[in-house]
Amino acid sequence: MFFIVITLLVLFSPVIPAVQDRDDKFLEKAIEEAYRGAECGDGRPFGAVVVQNDGVVVSCHNMVLRNKDPTAHAEITAIREACQKLNQIDLSDCEIYASCEPCPMCLGAIRFSRIKRLVYGAKAESAIVAGFTHKQHLEIKKAEGTIAMLAEQLFEKTKSMFPS
Ligand SMILES: [Zn+2]
Repeated sequence: MFFIVITLLVLFSPVIPAVQDRDDKFLEKAIEEAYRGAECGDGRPFGAVVVQNDGVVVSCHNMVLRNKDPTAHAEITAIREACQKLNQIDLSDCEIYASCEPCPMCLGAIRFSRIKRLVYGAKAESAIVAGFTHKQHLEIKKAEGTIAMLAEQLFEKTKSMFPS
């Protein structure tokens, strides 16, 4: 009887790898953070957590309304705070957990920060369906002539200030 019960438990218990538990734990924190940010009026319901060596470095939410800053998305806020806290601009030993699939700006910031791994919860299209999107025409012009040349010279003329 005992053997049958154990067998049934093994057969019907969900097979969840350890990394899944770990990811779920940090993602849950990001989701809680999203609720917190929305409830206190800081911004939209988005949260992000930066993790280093299995420990939470920062847990942040969207701060667009509080900071009057359209770039203060949860992921950007988390990257900024993590860099301040760790006193470095390279987060290549960190992971980021976002309650929602990052927008192009945040995905760019994640890449610039060199974060090694991204885990997200909701699909971006769910946020868009819920009305969290920006549709606006943007005119982009590439300068020509002398002014473009002066701008191009920036890198050559400041090269010695930034040895790689
Ligand atoms: Zn974003």
